Formats: sequence, C-alpha cells, structure tokens
Amino acid sequence: MTQLAIVENPSQQSLAFANDFPPIVRSYFEWNLLQSEGYVDQRAQRQTWRENHTCTYSFELCVDERLSDFLRAVGLMAGIPNVSRSPGGFESNLGYPLTQKRLFAFHEEYCLNGHMEVHLVTYHYSGSQTNHGCAARKNNTEQYRSDAIEHAKRLNRALNRSIIAFSVGVDTDDDSLVVHGTNGDVCLREYALDVHDPFNKTLRSRLSEHLAMVFPSQRGLFRDKSSRTAEAFYQEFAELLASNVHYVRQRRAELARSGPEKESHTALRTFIGRPLDMEPPKGTTFLLEDGDPRLMGKYVAIPLKIVCKNALQHVMITGNTDNFVIPYIISIPYRNGNRGLKQESALDIAEMVKRTAHTWLPGILSQFERTNWWGELTEQLRVLACREAVDRVLTFPCVHDERTRLFVPVS
Ligand SMILES: [Zn+2]
Repeated sequence: MTQLAIVENPSQQSLAFANDFPPIVRSYFEWNLLQSEGYVDQRAQRQTWRENHTCTYSFELCVDERLSDFLRAVGLMAGIPNVSRSPGGFESNLGYPLTQKRLFAFHEEYCLNGHMEVHLVTYHYSGSQTNHGCAARKNNTEQYRSDAIEHAKRLNRALNRSIIAFSVGVDTDDDSLVVHGTNGDVCLREYALDVHDPFNKTLRSRLSEHLAMVFPSQRGLFRDKSSRTAEAFYQEFAELLASNVHYVRQRRAELARSGPEKESHTALRTFIGRPLDMEPPKGTTFLLEDGDPRLMGKYVAIPLKIVCKNALQHVMITGNTDNFVIPYIISIPYRNGNRGLKQESALDIAEMVKRTAHTWLPGILSQFERTNWWGELTEQLRVLACREAVDRVLTFPCVHDERTRLFVPVS
C-alpha cells in the first residue's frame, strides 16, 4: 500500500467513493488521480513533442503486469503512443475487430497529419528463466518471436506499407529490448553493459548508425521511401532506444541491490479499458484492452487465475482474509460528452467478468488443488476459497473523459 502514503491530500476529487474499497482497489484510484493530474499538466509538452518529431509510435503489448511500465522503459510520456494490449500481445488482436479499428483510427489521425507511424509488435521473455515467458503463449518464446515477426510483416502488407512495423523482444529481467531489423538485430542490453565508448561517439549516434545497418535505406521497409524519411527514423528511433539503454542501466543497478525477481506473476488486480499507455506501478496490475464483451471471456480468465492465486497467497502473508479479493477495475473513455453509451459498455463488461468468473473459477480451483502451494494454505483458507471465490470477484465499472483520464465510477 505504498501509494496510500503518496496521496494524502487528493486535490481535485475527494475519492470519497473509494473509502470502502479494498486497499488494492483504492490505491488504484489514488494512482489514477495522480496520473490524471500529470496528463492534464503535460498537454503543452505533448504538443511540442509532436511538433518536433516526424515519427509517432504504436505498440502491441501483452497484458502481463511486468510490462505495465513499458513507456518508462522507452522514455515516452503518456498520450504519445497508441497502445493495445491483449494476452500474448497480438495474436488475439487478429480476430479482434475493435482493436484493428482503433489501430486504423490512430493511423489516420497522425499519418494524414504528416507523421510516420512506427509500430512495434512486441513479445516478451525472461533471459534468465525460460519458464518465466508469456503464460498466454505457454512459455514458447521461439514460436512467440517468429509469430511476432510474421505479424509485423502482415501489418506492413495490410496497411500497404504506410507504417513501419517490426517486432521487438522485451526481456522482462531488466526491460531491455531487442529490435529485429530486416538485416540483423539491435540488442539494447549490449549497449547498456558497454559503458566505454571506443569511438568517442554519443550513444544516440551509435544507435542511429546501427539502425541504418539493420533497416537499410531504400531497401526492405524503406525501399519506397525517401532517404530523408529513413534518416528521420534513424535519428528519432535512436532517441527512444537510448532511453531504453539508460532505463536498463538503472533497472540493473536496482536489481543488483534488491536481487533478481523470483516470481513471474505478482499482480493483485486487473484493469480493463483504455488508455493503455498509463503506468501503474510495475508488477501490480494486468492491463487488458476493452472489446466486445461476447469475445472477451477467455482473455478475462487469464488474470482471473493468476490474481486468485496471488490473493490467496497475500492472505497467507498478511493473515487478513479481507485481502482475498479478485478486483477488475474497468474504465472506458468518452469524447465530446458521449458518456451514456460508454457507461453501458463499462457495465456490460462488468457483467461479462462476473459471468466469466462463474464459469471458470470452479475449474481453476480444482486445478489449484493439484498444486503444492495449495497444500501450504491453511485449511480455513482453502475452505474460504472454495466457498467464496466467485463472490470475491469484484468489479468497478467507470468512465472517463479522454481529455482528463480521471476515472468516475458508474452504477
Ligand atoms: Zn504475455
């Protein structure tokens, strides 16, 4: 509950509605208030950023809570990239018409304005622990990587090469990226570890030259683009990659002090909705894009299982059975006062979460019964889990004005 200490005096809103919420939910609303204030304050900065950049960014990311602060890892402020999130990051998007529609809408908004869209199809893995890869991909990193590369190619074709799409691996050990070019890879950890600069060049200029090697001008992705377009990409994407190098150095120093992360999934709550470029504290929250509630059940079931397990283990540590909650916070953005319809969407998703829990939890609990950690729980807690798990799935439907991003509960 570290966030509780940060927000002692919320200025814009009393947060009175959240007083009775469990701490893990209340802290999310407090965090949202801070995010919202920052977002409103940065409006002019976003405008300046866009004026000074030819590239704009879109990312496809997994819901995994280890990727919740991805923007920090690449040094972008919220409100710049378009982020979509689903289990596994992209495969599920293919059959997800709403995500595609949003992808195209972002593309039109910025590319018709003269920006070049750089689209990262990401996959994730743990460099040190092969069994800590993507749960939605059954830890099969090899397949995941080649699917990401294939998906990026498909997107380039589908959008008639009006975007620059390629795949990027994220090592969740230290958040270092591996960029897969058409002519080789750029491995950012190597830059992070190499603190000496034998050629006396700045980090950005080295990265920019490396990008020109792996994405050659007038070939591959740039074969029908001017050399000026390619040059803008090398310069600007090198800026993003240099931010990653700095971030990785910082993460590695932190990990050297605290020891490597041993657990792969530590989330205690799930957020469903948009925008997905906000950054709840790392390791706390699954982030899932809202879509058609009829199609979302299986996506919702992945965090259901993991959060249920973590909540039970949280009770074992804290001794407080009130901590056995499986919360889903939902918030749907609206624009131009079009709030009513979005309220309905938030409520529909909340209903769907309840139905999903009802359908899936009995099976999830019987899977748990075959594991070692289940045997380590107290008898009382095992009984509580079997009796009340479905009732402990809590939903918090909200809407927010897309200009402020401040969540307002609806009922
Ligand atoms: Zn994943």
